[in-house]
Amino acid sequence: MLDVNDKKALQVKSEDYFILAECFFDHAFSRPEYLFNQRGKSAGTAHLQRNLIKFNPILFTQNKQEFIDQVVPHEVAHIIAYQQYGKVKPHGKEWQHIMKHVFHRPATTTHTLDIKDVMGKQYRYQCLCDTHLLTIRRHNNILKGTKYICKKCGEVLYQTTK
Ligand SMILES: [Zn+2]
Ligand SMILES: [Zn+2]
Repeated sequence: MLDVNDKKALQVKSEDYFILAECFFDHAFSRPEYLFNQRGKSAGTAHLQRNLIKFNPILFTQNKQEFIDQVVPHEVAHIIAYQQYGKVKPHGKEWQHIMKHVFHRPATTTHTLDIKDVMGKQYRYQCLCDTHLLTIRRHNNILKGTKYICKKCGEVLYQTTK
């Protein structure tokens, strides 16, 4: 789904962060393999033991700049943290240190990506005060008898076509 230039852009940006890390820590880090088949709502995942980063091609296509600015350093920082410190908490102080002081990026764990195209079908429900978009999982629960209540008005949600 991604063309060769997109893949190259992600790898070149990742490489920039590896070089920053090598300057900071003054030794070499082993480069991961890059795959472009991450599915679902995750923008990317770092597989530490396998030394592998997976990027989400759909989210990348829709959010290229945010991806380059946020997702690439986030995932590379996981790989660096593992190689530098071993098994540590995923977004713990080592990872945060790398984000802030090595990469000069904010150490935020959530991305501001537009994920509506990977959310799957949504079902429109209504209460007294608002409309609510529910996932297929919740919609199926309702068909089986579960009742969801609006936190604001306290009313049971019912399906609407509006
Ligand atoms: Zn993470
Ligand atoms: Zn309500």
